[in-house]
Amino acid sequence: MLSPPLDWVLPLIAAPFIGSFLSVLVVRLPKGEDIVVAPSHCRHCERQLTPLELVPLFSWVAQGGKCRGCGAAVDRLYPAIELAALVVAVWASFVVRGDVLLITVVLGWALLALAAMDLRDLILADALTLPLIPAGLTVAWWTDATLLPWHILGAAAGFALMVAAGWSYKALRGREGLGFGDAKLMAASGAWVGIEGIGSVLLYGAVLGLIVVLLLRLTGRNVDAATPIPLGAGIAAGLWLVWLYGPVVVGA
Ligand SMILES: [Zn+2]
Repeated sequence: MLSPPLDWVLPLIAAPFIGSFLSVLVVRLPKGEDIVVAPSHCRHCERQLTPLELVPLFSWVAQGGKCRGCGAAVDRLYPAIELAALVVAVWASFVVRGDVLLITVVLGWALLALAAMDLRDLILADALTLPLIPAGLTVAWWTDATLLPWHILGAAAGFALMVAAGWSYKALRGREGLGFGDAKLMAASGAWVGIEGIGSVLLYGAVLGLIVVLLLRLTGRNVDAATPIPLGAGIAAGLWLVWLYGPVVVGA
């Protein structure tokens, strides 16, 4: 059911602009670039963008996806994230309402940026994963203080599970397969959905990560055992689904 108008109007209007900011995070955080002070510029000719060129979605369409200065194609990431940020807000407003809606939309936007970062650069920036841990615990405490221990336990278990999986993988295959980024994102997942939710997050994560690799193979990409699976993007999507719909119930 759709939330009352005032709840979702604000996130909906803000979404493309937030999306625009998220795409800056996705491009700059993995490179360790400054995200606040450096003004938006064309990455090809270094020309600074005018205010009109910063209007999300609209500017990309109006410019035909090209830089006005040098004609270089604008990275499709920008309009894609702006649109996806809007989808997150609309999706959330169909599932939750009230104060939880705003929390859900903010979580969704953070997860969107993390998923995009993982798919592009196989990096999950600490600047996004780490704050999600105390944020999730705070939301659990605010929802029902008696739940807090289960969410702390969830965060610890999520982290330990991924570190253990990473060690076993390295021992078996002789190379790194799982990053600490994945472990931090699983800790955040536990903080948000508690100990009872992390199994489902991981299940979604593994299945969705494999689907991405299968899609790459279908599009003719060379895929073998050494191809990294974007597990982080899968975990981000998994946390989103479990947060909205609850853990996967087997045999129900
Ligand atoms: Zn340019």
